[in-house]
Amino acid sequence: MKTRERKINWTNAIYFSVVPIMCIFTTIHWFNTGAFNWTTVILALVLATFVELSITAGYHRLFAHRTYNAAWPVKLFFLIFGAAGLQGSALQWALDHRDHHNYVDDNEKDPYSIGKGFFWAHMGWLYFKHNDQLKDMEKAGDLMDDKLVVAQFHTWVPMGFFVGYILPGIIALAWGDLFGGIFIAGFLRSVLNHHATFLINSLTHCIGKQTYSDSHSARDNWFTAFLTFGEGYHNYHHEFPSDYRNGVRPWDWDPCKWTIRGLSYVGLTYDLKKISAEIILRKRMHMKEKHMLKKLNKRNFDFFTSSYVDTFEEMKTRADAAFKYLSSLRQEHKKLTSKTHKPAFVQLEVEVLKDQINQATREFRKAIREWNMLRRQVLAYSRAA
Ligand SMILES: [Zn+2]
Ligand SMILES: [Zn+2]
Repeated sequence: MKTRERKINWTNAIYFSVVPIMCIFTTIHWFNTGAFNWTTVILALVLATFVELSITAGYHRLFAHRTYNAAWPVKLFFLIFGAAGLQGSALQWALDHRDHHNYVDDNEKDPYSIGKGFFWAHMGWLYFKHNDQLKDMEKAGDLMDDKLVVAQFHTWVPMGFFVGYILPGIIALAWGDLFGGIFIAGFLRSVLNHHATFLINSLTHCIGKQTYSDSHSARDNWFTAFLTFGEGYHNYHHEFPSDYRNGVRPWDWDPCKWTIRGLSYVGLTYDLKKISAEIILRKRMHMKEKHMLKKLNKRNFDFFTSSYVDTFEEMKTRADAAFKYLSSLRQEHKKLTSKTHKPAFVQLEVEVLKDQINQATREFRKAIREWNMLRRQVLAYSRAA
């Protein structure tokens, strides 16, 4: 396939090369002149948090993936502080990101495909113009209908510079640190915000666990999850992009999901989308089996002629059947509960279905547990053999 010629985006190329170098000198100057100030550091951390949240919970999970909906004050917050992230408008960001998901690892169509190397995925792609994307505005129909998103598209540059660089300077004037406000809470903070986000496209597509799928390069990586408020659970996210959570287990470090859920308790976010636990478990089971077979192969253990194979297949079939039964019950439940008029007998049917779903969930989980125990047993046996 012929590689498309790209024109250099000089504004980005100069900005992303010069600003980090400038920050080294301005930070040294800040320390050398004895201007270091903890209040400025706190300001930088607060602004970094607002920006990171706006990019991850806002640009990413709200605007690019529509994993939930939000009231206008929340959207406005994300659009203002997202602009201060200086990563483009929410509209363009979302379009690039939708292409990343639709064509992941395709060197021509995925704007930041890891196949083109770590640096390209991290920031190299930003050094070039991607004009053809503007032709795809029809893909952004839902975003074009949002007046706030459209208004930010037209104003993000002055808004971003003001909120990202000038405003922290004005605030830090209160304690006499205009320089620190602009260059530490402004520029240095923006460089750190940038590279934390960029690591999702680079590091998280190279290093980490493929917990749910190996059909794409995305990985679950705790380090980037920590830096980006939960975005590092990227294997999960690529597998289930419509879920508002990225760290799906309750203890996974995902402050974004906690923020989104927290705001839902006061009605500021709603329609939070979640993938059901059994679909997630089934994907995990599928990958665990793949990993097991790979390990057995490495140990030269011929699983398919071993005494385990029949029981293993039997347990897998049982788990699959339990999954199908549970899914059919859920569909039936969805059909009944979506009816606007629910006579008494329908309500009764819903109650019965709920009981059946609970029972079927227990059966499914039991089947998975037993299958998992046997998987461990096989692995332990192969290690000892
Ligand atoms: Zn990705
Ligand atoms: Zn995404």
